[in-house]
Amino acid sequence: MSGGACQGLPISLPKTHGQPLWLLAELTYKCPLQCPYCSNPKDFAGFNDNELSTQEWVRVFEEGRKLGAVQLGFSGGEPLVRQDLDVLIREARQMGYYTNLITSGVGLNERKVESFREAGLDHIQVSFQASDETVNNMLAGSAKAFQQKLKMAREVKAQGYPMVLNFVTHRHNIDQIDRIIELCIELEADYVELATCQYYGWAFENRQQLMPTRAQLERAERITNEYRAKLAAQGHPIKLIFVTPDYYEERPKACMNGWGQVFLTVTPDGQALPCHSARMLPIEFPNVRDMSLQQIWDESPGFNHFRGDDWMQEPCRSCDEKDKDFGGCHCQAYMLTGDATNADPVCSKSEHHGLILNARAEAELPATEPLLFRNERNSRVFYKG
Ligand code: SF4
Ligand code: SF4
Repeated sequence: MSGGACQGLPISLPKTHGQPLWLLAELTYKCPLQCPYCSNPKDFAGFNDNELSTQEWVRVFEEGRKLGAVQLGFSGGEPLVRQDLDVLIREARQMGYYTNLITSGVGLNERKVESFREAGLDHIQVSFQASDETVNNMLAGSAKAFQQKLKMAREVKAQGYPMVLNFVTHRHNIDQIDRIIELCIELEADYVELATCQYYGWAFENRQQLMPTRAQLERAERITNEYRAKLAAQGHPIKLIFVTPDYYEERPKACMNGWGQVFLTVTPDGQALPCHSARMLPIEFPNVRDMSLQQIWDESPGFNHFRGDDWMQEPCRSCDEKDKDFGGCHCQAYMLTGDATNADPVCSKSEHHGLILNARAEAELPATEPLLFRNERNSRVFYKG
């Protein structure tokens, strides 16, 4: 990896961390869709030929359980691309994980839903791009995606799974929030994530084209709250979760509940990360092919990098809120300021907060560039080898 502000910092030796409760297995970066807000690395195409084998994943899951992980998410890319998914689910379930499949629904069919149920899969999350078929398919880059998703969401419910529907919202779909919620009610979703786009990976490239205005965001939140109140009064079981974007906050989130505290993700080629975006940072992260998860979690410089607060600069170092947000998101600090040890610029105390204010102002203007879609061809432009 190239040098940068993150390298060469002292490693915190006293144990300042718990156990990785939540393991995210990014089984592949391959995906039939091309969402312009995808959080996968922009250079994902360079890692597609080096995926972990079935046996390697099973070993990772075993090591994760020994470390105390209880929840295992299968994600990607599109995890359905992996032909061994049912084997991986079965193995993970037998180890005692609560298992969750995070899918676009494209590549799913009735037989697979059934085989996953037989393997013990606990939970499925299906993502949609929009409630409108034309917008959905434009964003997904597939003329068949919307109908396929509808069919599979119905199948998931028919086979008795708890179902999360996920909609990433942005300026192209946020004004249809009422129709999105109606669709989720019709599909009998148990949980609905209305997650306003966060600007990582491909979404950062497309920020100007995706970021909603403050008025759009406030309207969407108001309508969601009205639906919540109405549905609660009817005793409806659906849960609506509205996630506001960092860019309209004045304080950052406590990213991943603290670096290397509860979350561990493994990329398709075996890199272990404290957060699924961290691959972008100029930090040497370990690979599960070279070390056990226990060594990675407890001893690796990558995982110890931002534990504790020795790494902090001002204003975080002397801030009385540092135990709440741990300085925010290091990836966001790195993307926006070039130094991951800076305070997340979302924080109004950051000297770089003006970058966020500029982005808000830019969101009020019409987009000047077309969307850049997440696909192999565009990804190769970012891959440096
Ligand atoms: S966000 Fe879209 S392109 Fe990215 S992995 Fe998910 S479905 Fe595929
Ligand atoms: S200055 Fe740093 S620690 Fe304080 S609120 Fe802002 S990001 Fe959090």
